Amino acid sequence: MAGMNHTDADDLSTRIVHHDYIPPAGFAALQPGVYKASTVIFPNVAAMRTREWKDKSSYTYGLHGTPTTFTLEERLCMLEGGLQCVLQPSGLAAIANVALALLETGDEVLLPDNVYGPSLALANGELARFGIRHGLYDPLDKADLAARITPATRLVWLEAPGSVTMEFPDLCGQVRICRARGVITALDNTWGAGLAFAPFDLTGDGSRSLGVDISAHALTKFPSGNGDVLMGSVITRDPELHMKIKLTHMRLGLGVAGNDAEAVLRALPSIGLRYRAHDAAARQLALWLQQQPAIAQVLHPALAGSPGHAHWQALCGAGVTEAPCGADTATRGAAAGLFSVIIDARYTQSQVDAFCDGLRLFKIGYSWGGPMSLVVPYHLASMRLRPAPHLKPGTLVRFFIGLEAVPDLQQDLQQALERAFAADGP
Ligand SMILES: *Cc1c(COP(=O)(O)O)cnc(C)c1O
Repeated sequence: MAGMNHTDADDLSTRIVHHDYIPPAGFAALQPGVYKASTVIFPNVAAMRTREWKDKSSYTYGLHGTPTTFTLEERLCMLEGGLQCVLQPSGLAAIANVALALLETGDEVLLPDNVYGPSLALANGELARFGIRHGLYDPLDKADLAARITPATRLVWLEAPGSVTMEFPDLCGQVRICRARGVITALDNTWGAGLAFAPFDLTGDGSRSLGVDISAHALTKFPSGNGDVLMGSVITRDPELHMKIKLTHMRLGLGVAGNDAEAVLRALPSIGLRYRAHDAAARQLALWLQQQPAIAQVLHPALAGSPGHAHWQALCGAGVTEAPCGADTATRGAAAGLFSVIIDARYTQSQVDAFCDGLRLFKIGYSWGGPMSLVVPYHLASMRLRPAPHLKPGTLVRFFIGLEAVPDLQQDLQQALERAFAADGP
């Protein structure tokens, strides 16, 4: 019925579906609107056939982007200094998206020995099944990385610092080695979050003469900031590399939900404040834990003596000179509110478990980046394939420091340490 006014239809069920009220344009508020769609409507068939989603000039289907996801992508590009961004439904999906876009049978990917665990599980599972081999390199030994690159190596994953054991690599040196060998570098930038250093401008002088090719980020952590969203991003500065990742993303159907994108957009303006608050609190508690007799080692890249500390200082410690260890160096530069401790080997695993159970404010749980402090005991021996002489013997416990008051968290740690370890203390 050409020309029929939708709201003139007889049946209420038709009229409620085709209601044609359009609110006035020009609504302005602090946050962008939330658009949610599977179906996107075209004005006619010709428009449907000619619409282009790959360059973000228009919309074709919810999976290929909405104003909300496009807005989030552009803001994340700004945060990390990239030009193109693709969103995934988790940080791990971002890592998988990169692998499936760039690797094929016969290729090899190199991972640091302290890689985010599920990334290694992907290499051992799907990648191995598709005939893609992987090797593990020592993140603190550039010669080892250089020696492991073969003509089959297509991709090198980088992490600064590594997950759980927190070794900070010479990221600039690693990228130089990969560039000289023509190998693509992908950084898991979840810890740095675009705030501790600029992944596409590692010299930090705005020249972009040295940077990674790909930055993958678990938005689940700091960008979401509340422990209630899973999302990932893959950011690039090269249109061809981006298009490979984007086409694989499209074929795998890796969409994100509008409400989740909105939640990240809402938390993004406070990311800098939150990051600095988590960082400052974590350093105070890490320094305090260093003094406790049950603690054999504190693994925090901003603390002198932590594995790779000099690399952290060179990359993230802007303005930090050769000041000696102490409160001064420990409050400059940028680091996430995340660190691990090794509980002295004289204590048993069950004592360490009791310590974690005895914490009241620290909750036991994976992930990080939200307001609540978290603790996880890890079994180091099962996580490392090669010896790590820079790690003291003992049992590893990882902390994420939330937004609670530092004296309350310190008191909580103290009471749990006393209860779990007092009997066997020195
Ligand atoms: C959490 C995390 C991921 C994965 O993010 P999810 O959204 O939980 O899948 C990847 N890399 C690092 C370093 C992480 O901490």
